[in-house]
Parts: sequence; structure tokens; C-alpha cells
Amino acid sequence: MTPRLKIILRLLNCALRRCCPKCAKGGLFRRFFTLHDHCPTCGYDLEPADGDTWFFMYFSSAGIVGISFLYMFFFPPDSTAEGWLTVVPIAGAVMILSLPIRKALAIAIDFHLDRGRAEFETEERE
Ligand SMILES: [Zn+2]
Repeated sequence: MTPRLKIILRLLNCALRRCCPKCAKGGLFRRFFTLHDHCPTCGYDLEPADGDTWFFMYFSSAGIVGISFLYMFFFPPDSTAEGWLTVVPIAGAVMILSLPIRKALAIAIDFHLDRGRAEFETEERE
């Protein structure tokens, strides 16, 4: 297994389990939507700067909307009302229910990018 694939699998594993990307043990959420400030196990600051994960959250939400539009394009509903009454609530439910996993993935990616940046800065100083 290549190191890059190993990192991707670890990030996905953490996101699906909604656990800390640093220690892979502590849970990220106090309640369904309520994020801990720090990992309860290792103390890692989960969002050192507010809004670090907004880009991923915004585009993953836009991706869900895009998939909904593609679904309606390839499987057009019989009427506009049927489309509104089926696809919109399903897309909304997917968006809300997947929020913790998408947030966990955004935090895992942010952790990986910060760690990579820290290693790069350490190499530059040497
Ligand atoms: Zn942790």
C-alpha cells in the first residue's frame, strides 16, 4: 500500500467513525451536530481557526445539490410538483444527515494539510 493511499484511507476511516484525525480515538461530536472544541482524548484543537472547514462544507453541499439536479435530469419526474416533493426533501435529508461525516472529513483533511505544512516548514528551516 502506498503512503498516499494509506493517508486517504486513514482520513476516510476517521471521517466515517467521526473520530479525531490525530489520535483516531476521541469522538468529534458532543451531540449530533455539536462539535467538541478539542479532542476529548488527545486535546487536539479541532478547529484552530473558525471557518477552516467552510470551503469543504460549502462545496460538498453544492455537490449534493448538483447530484440532485443530475438525478432529475436523467430521471425526470412526471411533474414539477412531484420533483419538488420527492427530490428536494431527499436532498435536504442527505445534506443534514451527512453533515457530521462531511464535517469530520473536512477536519481530517484540514489536519492532514496542517501537518503536511508543518513538516514542510520544519524541512525548510533545516
Ligand atoms: Zn485526538
